[in-house]
This record gives sequence, structure tokens and C-alpha cells, in this order.
Amino acid sequence: MAPKILVADDDQALSRTLSWILKENGYEVLTVPGGEHLFEHLTSEQFDLLLLDIMMPKVDGLQLLQRVKADPRFKDLPVLMISSMPPEEATVRSLGLGASDFIPKPFRVRELLARVKAHLRVGRELNQARAEARSRSEMMDIMQEVTASLKPDEIYQILVRRVAQGLNISRCSLIIAGPDDDRGTVVAAFENPMLHNLPVDLRRYPEIQHALATGEVVLVRDVHTDPLYQEIRENWEAEGRPVPTRSAIAIRFSLRQQPAGVFFLRTTTDDAPLNEQDVQFAEQVINAAVASLEKAYDLENAVMGQEQMRHLAETDPLTNCFNRRAMMQKLEQEMDRAARYATMLTGMMIDIDNFKQINDTYGHLVGDRVLKQLSALLKREQRSVDIVARYGGEEFVVLLPETTNAESRNFAERILRRVATHDFGETGQPVRVTISIGIATYPDERVTDGDSLLRLADNHLYRAKNEGRNRFRD
Ligand code: GH3
Ligand code: MG
Ligand code: MG
Repeated sequence: MAPKILVADDDQALSRTLSWILKENGYEVLTVPGGEHLFEHLTSEQFDLLLLDIMMPKVDGLQLLQRVKADPRFKDLPVLMISSMPPEEATVRSLGLGASDFIPKPFRVRELLARVKAHLRVGRELNQARAEARSRSEMMDIMQEVTASLKPDEIYQILVRRVAQGLNISRCSLIIAGPDDDRGTVVAAFENPMLHNLPVDLRRYPEIQHALATGEVVLVRDVHTDPLYQEIRENWEAEGRPVPTRSAIAIRFSLRQQPAGVFFLRTTTDDAPLNEQDVQFAEQVINAAVASLEKAYDLENAVMGQEQMRHLAETDPLTNCFNRRAMMQKLEQEMDRAARYATMLTGMMIDIDNFKQINDTYGHLVGDRVLKQLSALLKREQRSVDIVARYGGEEFVVLLPETTNAESRNFAERILRRVATHDFGETGQPVRVTISIGIATYPDERVTDGDSLLRLADNHLYRAKNEGRNRFRD
């Protein structure tokens, strides 16, 4: 990138010569005759150096200098004053106002170039040092916030917010997509904090696709002129849509050495255009956050893995209620609790009546379906503290902590009624089902542990069956 120099001088011949010499030496040059509109140019583009005439007919160069230096945005911009005023007087005044140097008219070309070069270097180093110091302290802040979070989603939100605020831009988002994907997912966007996992057509964003495919950082200074946007611009024109975007940055990031997505920054026509320093800042932020993101994903996977494993180990796959092993564990815990806090615990053994016949009449698949439907019905009736488990083939156990005899009888009567009146099986071919229930309640002299509680319930179930089914016994 050629350094950009702005020349403000009313002397047209001198302006032209200066401009020509500087361009010949590899600089990019813009001239503003007479110094008018100087501020407009300074704000709309980023310059590395300003050559300013002290004496111009319409404006006072020293006043302009003062204004430039008073504006925090241009504090670090090197300003070289050009003048035919007596050197002593002009030097003292302009240096006092913050100019970097003074070049007397007429100037010697070699001296001018040497000074321009020296001040550009100093200016760049100063800018870099400032930017680094700024981004270092900002980075510490951001990292503190990022590392405090353990969820990938939260980290994405923090990143887009902090980068947007740090660069003072209105649009900043994170898109998850693979290197050759045409579609991506926006996981966070500063401009819309409520947005979550929005699908996006990446063919409308050539800079994103380019960054994804190549891993290069893409900086588009102006979408209205950048060749990357040629085709898209034609589409925009065809659609007659106004395009508020001005410049854009796309940075690919990887998780575990795998390209994972793109950090996407945009400015609108009201913002200052994005530049290399912004790229650096965004790159630093995303690189520093990668480790936290990886950790958050690991943790999420580990937690999810653990939960899934536990769920698998505890549930009966057909009915999705607790399996026998999990129920036995919970039963022991509940027995301990009931003993320690001197509360009551009810165990119910539930067995489907004549289930063999249901299988024989309707087939095993319908039988399976009945088992699922019965477990769903039992789960609907339970309180949140109750435990419903499949004990064996067509036998279920329900544990009711802190429940008296009267309460468990009520519960038993209710489910007997619900089951007997419920249409099981498929719609159009209802299957009538009844159940029998054996109830045992701790404390009871026959009950010393979980096993003996279930044995007692099973005895009562046996009685219910013998005495006609579709009833409970306790
Ligand atoms: P009772 O009223 O005396 O309990 O009669 P029953 O037919 O229900 O009793 P029995 O214990 O003789 O039969 C239970 C039947 O349940 C036998 C078996 O085929 C069936 N069964 C057990 N597990 C499953 C299952 O997972 N799916 C299906 N479809 N049937 C099952
Ligand atoms: Mg049985
Ligand atoms: Mg049975």
C-alpha cells in the first residue's frame, strides 16, 4: 500500500509539481486547492501525511493546522507546513501548534522527499504504537469477558459486541460455514442481538466466500468499486436496491485447525471506511478468543455426552421411563430419606391385565404401543417428585415419596379409572386395557428396605389379580 498524502496549497503550479514529484516517488496524492474542504477529505479517507501551505488567500493555514490538531481523529497525522514566510518566525509558530516539520519555499526536491519519508515513518510507528497500546488494554478487557463465559453462543455475542464497539461500526457478525459452502449460519450479529442461527445465502457475500475458501483476510474498502463485487453490483442495480454497505472485512477463523467460519465486519456509508488497523484488531480479537471457544465447545460436548450417557443408562428405550436398575437406585435413596426424615414412601407395582391376549389379538407392535401409551399416561398422572419405571415386560413401578395410605389409594383409583376408560392402540382400532395394582407403604413392619417394599407390593398385586383384576390391593 502506497502511503497517502494530502496536499493543501493555493499555488496551482506548486501543487502540480509537488503532486508529480510525490507520485513519481511512489506516493498516492490528493490535492485540495486553497485548503477548502480539507476536513471533508480528511474524514472520508485515511491519509498518512498532510502538506499544508501556511499562507492561502481564503483560509489561514495556521488556523487550519490548529483545527486539525484539535481533532482527536487527526492528532497523530503528521503535518508538514510549506511557506515562503521567513523560516524562523513560521517554524516557531507552526511547530508550536503541533506541526511535525516546516518546509520553506522554494524547496529542494531531495530535502522535501527526505522529510516526507522521515515523517511518514515516525507517523506510522506512532500510530502503530498507539493502536497496539489501545488494542492491548481493550484486548485484556475482552478476554476477561470471553474467558468468563463457558457457552459458545455467549462468546460469539461478546465478540461481535466488543469488536463493533471497539471499531465504532454498526455491523459485525459471526457466520459458521465450511470452506466451500454456499450457505452459512449467522450465530451472532451486533446489529441484531436477538438473532439466533439465521441461515444466510453466502453467494451474496463474495468476500465471505473468498475468505472461507482461501483463508485470506479480505478487506473491501468500497463495495461500490471493488472488483470482487462486480457481479453483485450488477444484481443490485437490476434489483434497484440501494446499498448502504460501504466497506467490509471478512476474516476466517478455525477451531481445532478446522476452518469453522468467518468474522464479518461492515460499515455503512455513514461510518468511516475500514482499514488495515481494523483488520488487525479484529484478527487479534478472534485469534485470542479461539482457545476459549474450543474450550467452551469441549465442555458443551462433555456435558452433553455425560447427560446423554446417563439418560441412556437410566431409561427404558421403549417407554422412555426409568428402567429397573435406575428405579432400584432411586428406591434405595428414597427409603433412606423416608427413614431419616420419618416420612412415608409408597411403592406401587402395576401389571397389565391379560396382556398376552392383547399381543395375541392385535400383534406385538400394538402391544408395544400399548406399553408406550400406558407409560405416557402414568407420567401424566405423576407429580414431579414421583418416579415411574418399567420394571419388567408389562410391569411398571411407581414410587410416591411422602405419601400416606389414603393418598396412594386415591392415586391408584384415579389411574385405574383413567386406564380403563382410555382408548389405547391406534385410532380407529381402540384397544381396551385394564391394570392391576399392588400397593405397599413404608413404614410397615414387613418393610426394611427397597426389596422388601417391592416384595410386599408384588404380594398385593397378586391378590388384586386373584380377586378379579382391574383393582388395587394394599
Ligand atoms: P395377567 O393379567 O395375569 O398379568 O396376564 P398377562 O397375560 O398379562 O400375564 P403374563 O405374565 O402371562 O404375560 C405377559 C405378556 O407380556 C407375555 C409377553 O409376551 C408380553 N410382553 C412382555 N414384554 C413385552 C413387550 O415388550 N412387548 C410386547 N408386545 N409384549 C410383551
Ligand atoms: Mg406380568
Ligand atoms: Mg400381566
